Amino acid sequence: MGTEIGYADEYGLADRWSGALWIRVPVRPGTGAPLLGRVHALRQRQAINQLLCGGCGQPTAGGRPDQRHLFLVASATRQAVVEGEKTTTPPVCDGCALETVLEGPPPRTGYVAALVEHTSARGVVGIVYSPDTLEPLPGDNGHKFSFVAYDDPRLRWTLACREVVSMHGCTAVDLTDLIGHTAA
Ligand SMILES: [Zn+2]
Repeated sequence: MGTEIGYADEYGLADRWSGALWIRVPVRPGTGAPLLGRVHALRQRQAINQLLCGGCGQPTAGGRPDQRHLFLVASATRQAVVEGEKTTTPPVCDGCALETVLEGPPPRTGYVAALVEHTSARGVVGIVYSPDTLEPLPGDNGHKFSFVAYDDPRLRWTLACREVVSMHGCTAVDLTDLIGHTAA
């Protein structure tokens, strides 16, 4: 029995990051503004770690005097983001947020907006494999994927698909205000 899962030709930080093995995805540079739900794994990890816009890749606090980061978080209940809430969705710049709100097809669940002072890396969402059978284990709540924290021993047996961060210093933003503010 091994001690972790891995690739036969594992290569550096693209494959392994903070102890987790990362899913391999084809890199297609410059494919427009993917935004919510369509961000590929490596790009998601870079964007959420470096607080770059999930749409265009620019730093999200760049044009903002308070240096906060705008997050649009999928939420079926439309409840405001709470302190320490976890997300896999990178922040967005004002321009991409506006585009998402005005032009994007409305996500089935809807989303809420928050300005966030800082984030903290918490773990990954991925597929956990059994150390005994090397078969994928069922995910959380009947899903394919599980949340695995960075201090969870299952991390070594997880194929990571998304990095998870927690949001801190959160201020709820009304999406209507956002549109008015950015368009003005
Ligand atoms: Zn952007």
